[in-house]
Amino acid sequence: MKIICIGRNYADHAKEMGNEIPDEPVIFMKPKNALLQGHTPFYYPEFTNELHYECELVLRVCKNGKYITEKQAPDYYNAISVGIDFTARDIQEEHKKKGLPWEKAKAFDNSAILGKLIDIKPGFNKKGILFSLKMNGETVQKGNSDDMLFSFDSIISHISNYFSLNIGDLIYTGTPAGVGECVVGDELEGFLGNEKLFSLTVK
Ligand code: MG
Repeated sequence: MKIICIGRNYADHAKEMGNEIPDEPVIFMKPKNALLQGHTPFYYPEFTNELHYECELVLRVCKNGKYITEKQAPDYYNAISVGIDFTARDIQEEHKKKGLPWEKAKAFDNSAILGKLIDIKPGFNKKGILFSLKMNGETVQKGNSDDMLFSFDSIISHISNYFSLNIGDLIYTGTPAGVGECVVGDELEGFLGNEKLFSLTVK
């Protein structure tokens, strides 16, 4: 099982980070150890002084494949959730400046929070999926899947040109604007529409 993440998939987030709008999906990965689900506590990593939340829609892959076309892509995922792509922003900025890889900033243990998965059944409306993140009871991020630069199907097709997709893989589809810092004691809650799919306290 692997975790594939898309960067800069919302124009307003690319802008807030001072990044260009990409002309193809930006891909990075997290290892299996990055996944944190359920009620496992999340501890603030000791190597960063600037931990950022990035709330994202997450897809679960349900079929093995490579060279998947956009038309075939809907057959390759069958569940959706919201999650957090935790980012050590200070380390990421430093590594970006030096042209170094991002893993220390993005792929550390428990950096991929995953909420409860919701089955995508026939008739599930994939247009205009709303999601949001609350911190300490206040909404800090709001997203709409229609604002993605690259759709679910185009992401899946693109990824599969480079990496085979396997059953159980997770795809973090990018964060909208509003990313920000969290500190020990903050409570984060992720919503798909009005349904709360995860809640965690930074310890
Ligand atoms: Mg992200």
